Amino acid sequence: MKNSQKSAIVVGAGFAGLVSALVCGRKGMKVTLIDKRDLDQTHVSQGKHAHMLTKKGLNILCELFPEIEEEYLSVRFTKLHFTHDVKWVGPYQAYPRFHSDFGNIYTFYRPDLDRILVEMLAKLTNVEILSGVEVLGFHRKGTAMSGVATAGGDIFSDNVIVTTGRFGNSEKTLEALNIKKYEKESIPSILKYRSFELESSYFEEKDYQAIMATTFGEINPNGTVMIPITKNRFMVTQVGKDLSTEVMAFSDCLHTPEISEVLRKSKIVTPPITYKLEGSRRYSFKKVQNWPEGLLMLGDAAVFMNPIFAQGLTLALIQCEALNHFLDTESSSFDFQVSVDELIQEPWFLGTLEDRRLNAKSWQRPFYTVAEKCVAQVLKKATQDKATYLKLVETLNMLSSPVSFFNLRVF
Ligand SMILES: Cc1cc2nc3c(=O)[nH]c(=O)nc-3n(C[C@H](O)[C@H](O)[C@H](O)COP(=O)(O)OP(=O)(O)OC[C@H]3O[C@@H](n4cnc5c(N)ncnc54)[C@H](O)[C@@H]3O)c2cc1C
Repeated sequence: MKNSQKSAIVVGAGFAGLVSALVCGRKGMKVTLIDKRDLDQTHVSQGKHAHMLTKKGLNILCELFPEIEEEYLSVRFTKLHFTHDVKWVGPYQAYPRFHSDFGNIYTFYRPDLDRILVEMLAKLTNVEILSGVEVLGFHRKGTAMSGVATAGGDIFSDNVIVTTGRFGNSEKTLEALNIKKYEKESIPSILKYRSFELESSYFEEKDYQAIMATTFGEINPNGTVMIPITKNRFMVTQVGKDLSTEVMAFSDCLHTPEISEVLRKSKIVTPPITYKLEGSRRYSFKKVQNWPEGLLMLGDAAVFMNPIFAQGLTLALIQCEALNHFLDTESSSFDFQVSVDELIQEPWFLGTLEDRRLNAKSWQRPFYTVAEKCVAQVLKKATQDKATYLKLVETLNMLSSPVSFFNLRVF
């Protein structure tokens, strides 16, 4: 895409759409960002569940928008020195806490992150936001995109970025554009997520500010994440196969009693909301022969996965970082889309590992038995050894490849 003086329609103003619109807008493109939701409302998809942005995601966000950390994040969000301020109890015991070069992450109430991006967009006169407008169809003219259809009429542009999320029916979009021969991979999940907000002064007496209790690997995924959003206010997300029991009863069965202890000394202030995860899904477009010039598909619309490793926002940022480079090149939209497929390869492998393991057929078991043993070895060693813990934290924050554990001689 050659961005100079071009226009783009971004369909969907979730996290991926907001970042895409900012990237295009800051390149000087005329951008129309459209969402069927009323963007003045605080609701955002999945917004009532605890969200963590990985360090990799934070780094990309701050590189794309250099003012964001100083002007927004550090002012409005809670800063945590991850390896010290977060108490993390894995399946075997608590990991060590110490000051390290890993640095800080921010925790937040998810709609607040999106609101910051909307505020940043509002400063760009070349970006128009159409809130409460549903895109009903997509237009292509021969080999290129020509715009979208809404109830109020057609909107024309030779670039359309589809960021309609996991519920946005990407297949219908592809069908409408007569795009065939794409591949789809779906991996079912057995997990459910349940979230609520908590008022608590429990951490005032502690030298840590957040707690995570998680199991995965040999022991099936289960746990609770409790992260601060403002003073004495926490987002809590419970994850497990069976959330039919009450909040307290679920906590009492976790592998650490501390979650129950926090809950007993605190007050739940919002009704628990459950999210039933159907699974992970991604599209691959490398075999498509008629991808229209000017079409891009990003965010959950292209790939979404079990949020157990909190990767969704980072995946959107990885894609938007690629978009930022792409806008300065003469490459085709198809080449961009295929390159994005490749960028998500490793996060997809990590993010779906647990579900693939749990869904494994009997002939696949030997591989997963070895994988389980390797994961167990890393998790056990990480409780005893700071370097291994740091590598674990870096891997889950997408700064390091899982392969790098071999360099530490964990196995
Ligand atoms: C329980 C849970 C916990 C999670 N925790 C984390 C976490 O800790 N860290 C993390 O990084 N990620 C997490 N995620 C994933 C993260 O929430 C998603 O990856 C991210 O929100 C996807 O953003 P998106 O913009 O692609 O899609 P969405 O946020 O779904 O946005 C899509 C937008 O498109 C709009 N839209 C759809 N169709 C149309 C149309 N036809 N016309 C106009 N507008 C349309 C919708 O209204 C919506 O606003 C979690 C997900 C879940 C379910």
